[in-house]
Amino acid sequence: MNFHSMSVDELRSTRDDLRKRYETLQAAGLNLDLTRGKPGPDQLDLSNPMLSLPGDDYRSPSGVDTRNYGGVSGLAEMREIFGELLGTGADRTVALGNASLQAMHDVTVYALLHGTVDSDKPWSAEPIKFLCPVPGYDRHFGITELYGIEMVNVPMNPDGPDVDACAALLADDPSIKGMWLVPTYSNPTGYTVSEDVARRLLALPAAPDFRIYWDNAYAVHTLVDEAPAPLPILDLADEAGHPNRVYVFGSTSKITFAGAGVAFFASSAANLAWFTKYQSASTIGPDKVNQLRHLQFLKDADGVRAHMDRHRELIAPKFELVLQILEERLGDSKIASWTTPEGGYFISLDVIDGAAARTIALAKDAGIALTAAGSTYPYKKDPHDRNIRLAPTFPPIDELRTAMDGVATCALLGATEVLLDGHR
Ligand code: PMP
Repeated sequence: MNFHSMSVDELRSTRDDLRKRYETLQAAGLNLDLTRGKPGPDQLDLSNPMLSLPGDDYRSPSGVDTRNYGGVSGLAEMREIFGELLGTGADRTVALGNASLQAMHDVTVYALLHGTVDSDKPWSAEPIKFLCPVPGYDRHFGITELYGIEMVNVPMNPDGPDVDACAALLADDPSIKGMWLVPTYSNPTGYTVSEDVARRLLALPAAPDFRIYWDNAYAVHTLVDEAPAPLPILDLADEAGHPNRVYVFGSTSKITFAGAGVAFFASSAANLAWFTKYQSASTIGPDKVNQLRHLQFLKDADGVRAHMDRHRELIAPKFELVLQILEERLGDSKIASWTTPEGGYFISLDVIDGAAARTIALAKDAGIALTAAGSTYPYKKDPHDRNIRLAPTFPPIDELRTAMDGVATCALLGATEVLLDGHR
């Protein structure tokens, strides 16, 4: 029954029933974790053949001895494959170490210290801001918070960030220097940026050194038959007359091994030269042996797509299960809404305003760890206290079922408490 149309007495008796159910949940002594978007061990197993590569075959197809120093841009063959998958082209794509997050961090620090190719002074010379589509990825917000960059929320819609909101903010504020964005199967909503929204973002009047951090972490992580083709975002930036506006990131963290993958950075020739100049001070080159074992294992872009099909077989049932439990347990109550992603690693659950922290605390006391309240917002401040990020991939499916059923009980109980508070 719809909780919003319940009388106070009905709400009280529903809450009392839910409390009993919750006490049973607590008594079960669970220890379950839905916090982070990690691949499950069965997904990692898919890439185990890589553990015995490259063996003695340590030369790349183009003849590079991967054991030695050098090649700061990474192996040409890996740049080719991921230039295709990220829609950026090999020439404008470099293959790095194991973490795209590090590249995001580094370009931010380089700009703070030296300015970008279009800056007339370092970003740190005066207070600057980043636009943050919300809900978004906590580690993005962690980088900007760490360096004192003010974060400004903009709504994330199913086709991408609210461009009108971005336009209004950018129009008269040259201190806005950047924008976080996960363009495909966004973390945590699963939303994908449309070509129209991308073109409009690229064309917006903004500071010359405004940068969109196009973090395409889930470019090939589809749960449906028709995966979206990557937007040729660097070409679109050229067409919009802002060739240096976009920094593209990606990695194989959720393709092969989350802790031992290969990261990619792609951008205009000028931005790449800028990046490589500073990068060369900290490394003589990336781990090319790891890049080569990826190449030998994945072979080409179709090899990556086929490998992603195997991931899909393992994780699609987990997403279906979570959505089914949400519908069965929360559908009628109208106290929650959630996204139905076609890819990526997350489901974004919105409970009624003021009930997210309560739901998360209830779950914690019942032994179910959920991502901390507010995490999907800058400064961990969810202005409505309603968003909860669900990460279905890591737990085995039976644990996931138990955890999600528990989360549903906590969400319902939390909602009755909030609604009753409102009647006081
Ligand atoms: N970007 C997004 C949007 C992510 O969700 C994640 C992983 N949770 C990362 C980046 C991290 O990528 P990497 O392992 O390449 O640092």
